[in-house]
Amino acid sequence: MECSTVREGISATLDGEDPGVPMADLEAHVDGCADCAAWWEAAAGITRLARLAPVTEPPAVPERVYARVAAKPGVDRLRWALVLVAVCQFSVVVSQLLMPMPGITGEAHGGHLQHETAAFNFAIAVGLLFVAARPFRARTQLPLLLSFAGVLVFLSIVDVLGGQVGWYRLSGHVPLLLGVLCTILLGFGRWRAPEPGSHVREDAETFTATADAESSRPRRRAKTDRHQPPAAKRVA
Ligand SMILES: [Zn+2]
Repeated sequence: MECSTVREGISATLDGEDPGVPMADLEAHVDGCADCAAWWEAAAGITRLARLAPVTEPPAVPERVYARVAAKPGVDRLRWALVLVAVCQFSVVVSQLLMPMPGITGEAHGGHLQHETAAFNFAIAVGLLFVAARPFRARTQLPLLLSFAGVLVFLSIVDVLGGQVGWYRLSGHVPLLLGVLCTILLGFGRWRAPEPGSHVREDAETFTATADAESSRPRRRAKTDRHQPPAAKRVA
């Protein structure tokens, strides 16, 4: 039996198909042919790698996604800015709870109104910290942040025009506005962090063991078996 026929049969066997010749004849040839024995071993190794790699290799996508997030210029600076802004926002909460607020404490139920405001501002600070920790989810916080900031800015303008609010009180809104700005930049700007499952994943997959094994399989086979296409392919 010729080497080419034997290798076609081996290739078909590895693909789980009928080799077309008795298995005993293949083994008998390989016992006496060092080249075909080496070819069989290499082909079996590649097949095993291609089949086992998806199970044994851990997925490489998440690490690469997070690496891209960290490597993207400006993302880290925006995240640290958000942390700083969140700390300022927490300080606003503390000052609202501990210090008298002109315009609120004098009114009826002013004490509870101040507590409500502190609770809102605390939640905003937590939301900003969430964006700093998960920048690729920045846009999930925008409906709340933008609606709160929008209404607050509108009412602040009305109050300023009516002379009902001082600059001291307005300055407490600065951290919120800066936080919203950073969140918009992270969600939509050129610093936008990639989301898991976006195009980055396609890039990353080419580096997984699975893809390497799959892509190397036809290449290596073509090199060693250039003139003998596998029986399965020839039949198809
Ligand atoms: Zn041979």
